[in-house]
Amino acid sequence: MGLASKRKGHWRYRCWQKLFLALIGFPLAAGLLLAFVAIFRAVFVHQQNQSVLHILNNQVVDKIDESQIMQRAERLAGALKIPSVSYATDNQEKEALLQLQQYLQTNFPLIHSATFIKKEVINTYSLLYTVEGTIKGKLPYLLASHLDVVPVDPSTWEVPPFSGKIINRTYIYGRGAIDDKCGVLGIMEAVEYIIQKGERPQRTFFMAFGHDEEISGKRGAQELAKTLKARGIDHLDFVLDEGFPLTKDLIPGTDKHIAMVGISEKGTATLELSVSGNPGHSSFPPEESAIGILAAAVARLEENPQPSLLGKGPESATFKYLAPHDNVVPPSAKAVINHRVHPSQTVAEVIAYDRKIISDPRVHIRVKTSREAHPVSPFGQDCIPFQMIVISIKQVFTDAVVVPAVFIANTDTRWYLSFTTNLYRFLPTVVMPEDVSRYHGNNERISVQHYHQAVSFYYRVIKNADVLIDQVPASTVNNGDEEL
Ligand SMILES: [Zn+2]
Repeated sequence: MGLASKRKGHWRYRCWQKLFLALIGFPLAAGLLLAFVAIFRAVFVHQQNQSVLHILNNQVVDKIDESQIMQRAERLAGALKIPSVSYATDNQEKEALLQLQQYLQTNFPLIHSATFIKKEVINTYSLLYTVEGTIKGKLPYLLASHLDVVPVDPSTWEVPPFSGKIINRTYIYGRGAIDDKCGVLGIMEAVEYIIQKGERPQRTFFMAFGHDEEISGKRGAQELAKTLKARGIDHLDFVLDEGFPLTKDLIPGTDKHIAMVGISEKGTATLELSVSGNPGHSSFPPEESAIGILAAAVARLEENPQPSLLGKGPESATFKYLAPHDNVVPPSAKAVINHRVHPSQTVAEVIAYDRKIISDPRVHIRVKTSREAHPVSPFGQDCIPFQMIVISIKQVFTDAVVVPAVFIANTDTRWYLSFTTNLYRFLPTVVMPEDVSRYHGNNERISVQHYHQAVSFYYRVIKNADVLIDQVPASTVNNGDEEL
């Protein structure tokens, strides 16, 4: 190789070097710098978060006054006497809902006369309270519960379901004792107590009580959410709604309380399968009847259930057949299948799976109703609202093991999904093995002690949220406090 070509080669090398630096080197260096800044910030934020959570964890827990335990239990029992039942859409005990509003107004006089609390009746039956904190400009949070209850079959109750009886000063019986009047009254007791002590929360928050959670929340929580939006509030720091209660002695191998905080909710997909064929008489049945084709499709689905996700399969599907009668071969047959949609799958994936398994073009699939699973809320060490809830649980239930979980039922949180990614579902009461069937079942009850702990939990949440105020992002709206 001659000198000229060597020089040429060198020049070429320099050119490549420059090109390399321009194309890869500089972006790489800039990327490394950015990564370094991001890591530094993450470590810094992590340490800052940990130190503030440490303060929260180690603060002297100021407890709610125990002398009022029985009075609070009696106030809950009074609310359980009001049969605010939701039977179906357009079928609710509306008079009872109005009665319940009046009951809250009368029994929580401090909340209703506080100058920093605004009460609004939304869509006639739902309630929105704005508790204006002393410190402005921080993102507010929202505590949710619902005013309605599911129907009862009184003949199967040991204690009349709307008698509001406290048995042996130990158990408060009545429909709604767990789901979810202990939430509504529990939150209100905590706020009433704070005012009674002459205090006022630092942070602004909402108490949002829908009146139709058991039948979709469309007229209650949806309207509550719209009211907030109309006020310019489209961002919340976190939402805490009902969810799993704590369990005790239900999981073998531990005698600790297990607190599962819902970080997502399963979605639903109700599919209608139908087959149309020719009608005929059973004495001359076609080779394949509509029922036969449909039954085969359903059998294939039964044999090939949706894949198990995160170690748990979907809820067992419900099959409902429209039974043929007389001796006529019906021209068509239908089946309804209800799926629960896991957070790691979509409704479209569920349908695609069913279609693949059925693999018969004569079976028509129609989506009757569907709802995607909720996004998974953050639950890591650096998620301050989640950790604050964990610490609040442990301050009240000192031995509790707190774990994130997918909530299997649906709540009003779906109406608040656009406000925050921090949506948590938790019911601060304890369900013992003998109580499991009482939830939406017969003889629903809460013990006086557990109700006291529920009130204490909400009190701790409000107090702890205040301790963390410096960590809360700023709010661009002033929460409408000028209206108060
Ligand atoms: Zn509920």
